[in-house]
Amino acid sequence: MSAGVAYPDLGAYRRFVVAFSGGKDSLAALLYLLELGVPADAIELHHHDVDGRGSSFMDWPCTAGYVRALAAHIGVPLYLSWREGGFARELERSSSPTAPVLFETPGGIGTAGGSGPAGTRGLFPQTTADLRLRWCSAALKIDVLAAAIRNQARFHDSPTLVVTGERAEESPARARYVPFQPHRTSSRVRIVDHWRPVLDWTEERIWAVIAESLIRPHPAYVLGWGRLSCRTCIFGSADQWATLRHVFPAAFGLVRDREKVSGKTIHRALDVSRRADRGRPYPAALTHPDELAQAGDETWHLPIIMDPWMLPAGAFGDAAGPT
Ligand code: SF4
Repeated sequence: MSAGVAYPDLGAYRRFVVAFSGGKDSLAALLYLLELGVPADAIELHHHDVDGRGSSFMDWPCTAGYVRALAAHIGVPLYLSWREGGFARELERSSSPTAPVLFETPGGIGTAGGSGPAGTRGLFPQTTADLRLRWCSAALKIDVLAAAIRNQARFHDSPTLVVTGERAEESPARARYVPFQPHRTSSRVRIVDHWRPVLDWTEERIWAVIAESLIRPHPAYVLGWGRLSCRTCIFGSADQWATLRHVFPAAFGLVRDREKVSGKTIHRALDVSRRADRGRPYPAALTHPDELAQAGDETWHLPIIMDPWMLPAGAFGDAAGPT
């Protein structure tokens, strides 16, 4: 148990929904649930596909395959969910409603929404903790999970605990998060609570738990990224843009071209080319061809267990990512 973080009576819940990015913190939260004795058959992983199951515009191509392999290894079900058209469609939205959400369920694919008020985007999300301006986190992750829970009657029958992996060390905004509270989907018809079990964990503790499991970290960490954000995350550092331009020129080019066409940049002052000019590629990205190939491949083919386990180059490194 984590000293200092409020934690719930785990015996009160029949279902544990882990919002699972595939990053180190949500992986540590999952491993911690298992260590606390939560049975694997009570846990389900929910992963939100930022690109809406389409070709990669923002996210790492390998991430869905990685979380699928990891879920199979641990023996827990994985449910993918996404907003139709993903980031790219929401970015181009013009006088039209936000697209519907689709979500995998035990019985097939469900859908919700899509008939809200018309609106227009056109601007990349802003790099702020304000989720009205940083619209990607809300529209493509938080609201997607909420829609998947609100639109499945199976969540009515018994209490559910939603588990997420934010850590206070990541940003001042996250340091203000509440460790345990009713989830936004809790209502008269369903009891859903929200627990952030690793909120007060250090990065050292996170990696220690993963090392013990021998689970291979997402390739992004091996290539030098300190956090698993989208591959072309709006919070990308100069070194990350320099790395992307060097090793994933096509992905870099998609964002560069969108900036050119729209005249709107991700960064408030510089376009991604000038950001990349100010950084240096991560050395690890140039020396791990297998991980690099896997990172850009939708099909997961590396072993999920890494024995001997090795701390990835990105650990304790560049912490650029959502605040
Ligand atoms: S990882 Fe970055 S780009 Fe992706 S949804 Fe989060 S803030 Fe947006």
